[in-house]
Amino acid sequence: MIGVLALQGDVREHRRALESVGARTRLVRCVEELAGLDGIVLPGGESTTMVNLAASFGLLDPLRHAIHAGLAAYGSCAGMILLADRVCDGVPGQPTVGGLDITVRRNAFGRQVESFERDLPMTGVAGPPVHGVFIRAPWVESVGPGVVVLAQVSDPSGADRIVAVQQGALLATSFHPELTGDLRVHEYFLNVVRAEPGWSQAPGRRLSKGA
Ligand code: GLN
Repeated sequence: MIGVLALQGDVREHRRALESVGARTRLVRCVEELAGLDGIVLPGGESTTMVNLAASFGLLDPLRHAIHAGLAAYGSCAGMILLADRVCDGVPGQPTVGGLDITVRRNAFGRQVESFERDLPMTGVAGPPVHGVFIRAPWVESVGPGVVVLAQVSDPSGADRIVAVQQGALLATSFHPELTGDLRVHEYFLNVVRAEPGWSQAPGRRLSKGA
């Protein structure tokens, strides 16, 4: 059972992609809807709006606790920003859910009109490159030691930028696979969820493997 944070953004598209790869889904708008989830998707949209709504719906701290306790999560674009421990070029003091030991640069590839699409190879995703749709997308400026880089793309100056990362049960992409009909990133996330030992709803406690 995978939740989709349903406060703002491309909720429907993620839900459709998840169901197409065999997940059951639940829209999450209040704390009770976190119970019993095996994973959660934080969609693309607008990170400041989403985090403000999460705070007003009383979801921000429960989400932090759930992720800290080991709930698997996948964030695309604004969702990546939400999962990041550190944000640059955010609004002053922009809070996040956190969990991923990365610094993310918001709107890094430029303004809305500088949005672009690019095929890119992604570690763990077999077959042809993934078609990346980048809409006023962030990139990952730096990663902590436990974070695996899964994909990079060159920025307008030709420098390689990190656009997909994983740290244990947490996955994030700067781009939007939910918009392309290519289901491999959602499949990848479901495999991450299946491989995880699960999470305890007691804040800060991870279930041990096989528990
Ligand atoms: N630029 C948006 C933000 O900062 C993210 C864009 C997106 O999710 N497509 O939240």
